[in-house]
Amino acid sequence: MTTFRARIRESINNPTLQTALDNNTERRLKGKAAAFESIPDWRERRQRARHIRADAIGRLDEYLDQFSANAQSNGIIVHKAKDAAEAIEIILHITKSTTNYQSPITNRQSPIPLIAKSKSMVSEEIELNRALEKEGIRVVETDLGEYIVQLRKERPSHIITPAAHLKKEQVAQLFHEKLGIPYTEDIPTLTATARKILREVFLTADIGISGVNFGVAETGGVCIVTNEGNGRMVATIPKTHIALMGMERLVPNLDDLALMLSLLPRSATGQKITVYTQLIHKALANQTRHLVILDNGRSRIRNSPLKESLYCIRCGACLNACPVFRELSGHAYIGRDLSIAPYPGPIGSVVSPGLFGENYVQLAQASSLCGACKEACPVDIDLPKLLTRVRAGQSPITNRQLPTSEGAGLNWYTKFFLRMYARLATQPRLFALSQKFASLMSYLLSPRSEWMRLPAFTGWGYSKDLPRFAKKTFREKYGKSGIVNREIRRQSVIAEQPVNISTFTPSDLIDQFASELTALSGHVYQTDNPTDSIIEYLISKNVHKIYLQKNVLDEDLLRQTNIHFTHEPDPTLAVGVTKSWAGLADTGSVLEADDELLGSLLPEIHIAVLDSNNIVPSLPDAMELVKGKNAVFITGPSRTADIEMTLTIGVHGPKEIHVFVRQN
Ligand code: SF4
Repeated sequence: MTTFRARIRESINNPTLQTALDNNTERRLKGKAAAFESIPDWRERRQRARHIRADAIGRLDEYLDQFSANAQSNGIIVHKAKDAAEAIEIILHITKSTTNYQSPITNRQSPIPLIAKSKSMVSEEIELNRALEKEGIRVVETDLGEYIVQLRKERPSHIITPAAHLKKEQVAQLFHEKLGIPYTEDIPTLTATARKILREVFLTADIGISGVNFGVAETGGVCIVTNEGNGRMVATIPKTHIALMGMERLVPNLDDLALMLSLLPRSATGQKITVYTQLIHKALANQTRHLVILDNGRSRIRNSPLKESLYCIRCGACLNACPVFRELSGHAYIGRDLSIAPYPGPIGSVVSPGLFGENYVQLAQASSLCGACKEACPVDIDLPKLLTRVRAGQSPITNRQLPTSEGAGLNWYTKFFLRMYARLATQPRLFALSQKFASLMSYLLSPRSEWMRLPAFTGWGYSKDLPRFAKKTFREKYGKSGIVNREIRRQSVIAEQPVNISTFTPSDLIDQFASELTALSGHVYQTDNPTDSIIEYLISKNVHKIYLQKNVLDEDLLRQTNIHFTHEPDPTLAVGVTKSWAGLADTGSVLEADDELLGSLLPEIHIAVLDSNNIVPSLPDAMELVKGKNAVFITGPSRTADIEMTLTIGVHGPKEIHVFVRQN
């Protein structure tokens, strides 16, 4: 505990870290609030999401059997790993039997086994990279934030923004030293450098490894969301793809997935939907796809008082909301053996001791139990309750009280105070009296009253404001009916703003689609003849050769106008043209075949052709179309905010997206 405290002090006294953390959390919180405004029924969605997760965890064995059977019948090779060692053994075995792969796109071959990896917290949990590197296998993280922390030989400091603890000057110095580029703090230049290096990795990798955001029991499909496009690259270009999934990440069906996808990106990054929402149901032609489902302590947690922590969808919102995490960053969450916990923040302080035991029990002390984490959680996990359970030593490893962890290293005066508080809080009259006394004291001790000051070493009234108690207590304000009133108010908010999709007309849908995509730097054109309009566009940009998906444009017309095209892989082409199956009005997304990355992911400019009849109001309306297919919802150009939360367009995928909507 002493070392844990020392690490905490170090973090608080590090001004560079504090600025980086402030930048990250402030922007995340603002983005989240804005994104939730577009779903006024979010409270109801949240409760539905909680029920779905509770059902999935309650009937996990049944859903796992259904999911595995469906995935296998789709041609995906399913492996089950009971712990980290078994998962590593499975992945090593696959890797060793897949190497020396020659890319069909470049015809190049990597000299040593090369793995392109997209972000996966489960791989952090099992320390996969270390195990692979020990075997001489080169593994490269391809998410920009993960790539940065890999170059620094660090663990991610946040489950969503791995490099949230760094400022751009540190990334500039890192790239200068490790990648040999001239020192620059220009974020687009730093991002373009990573794009160039990692493009080569994608094209020559023997194997792609990704995480999984959700598995769908009903279809046996997996859903992966990324903003940069690296998830699509690693799952699609290498001859072998391995998806690594925690066994709890299941939802029963595609409707439930649609609901989760309305909450996850809003909570994680403040987006209505992630740029690439990928649904994988089968292996591509000439590809082998493996799925490794990991237990590693989850079954134990499921049968313990910490079961609710398995509802987590890893959005990271509780980290951003937590006043303690916002001062510390993930690297301060260390175990007794000084190792950094793979999962930090409020959820990490429950899951890390849950998965790894006593070593991380002390993390539960890094919480003020203010409830901000519960408030932020899109599946309404009662994190304060779980944190107090960990503090009380209810370990899923032994499932009994741990004598050594009661109070988990608190000093005697804190324990004394807590005991006194427990006595007070269990006697209502005394508690009400103490609130009045505290209110009076908070006024007398406030800097404005100048009546009395706390000693300087406490910091209160000097470097931080002493919070004032409310003039009236909760009971005084609301009486006994307070909770009931709040419940009525909550229901009326939902009832006041119903979302009725049947009121949309086709023209509304096109307008909404265009306005949403334009807001994300996409371009929308309405046309009676997409071939004519696209030729006009290409000529205006001086483009004379494109990748073209079959049966999308009038190819004779293209030949007549001297626009060359190919249906074959050619990574040098700057423009790809594809056909969209559907458009989503409320997010400006297009739905396409995921195998079409030659047109929609590799080129710098992606042109999509969409029939206006195929624009539907929102994601749930298009879910039927993805059943059993490899499909991707694309929403705007590829983007990242991994360096100082600065939005940068075109990190791995296209820098521009142009959608030509055919009028019907
Ligand atoms: S506990 Fe809730 S808020 Fe925290 S990461 Fe999980 S889902 Fe998100």
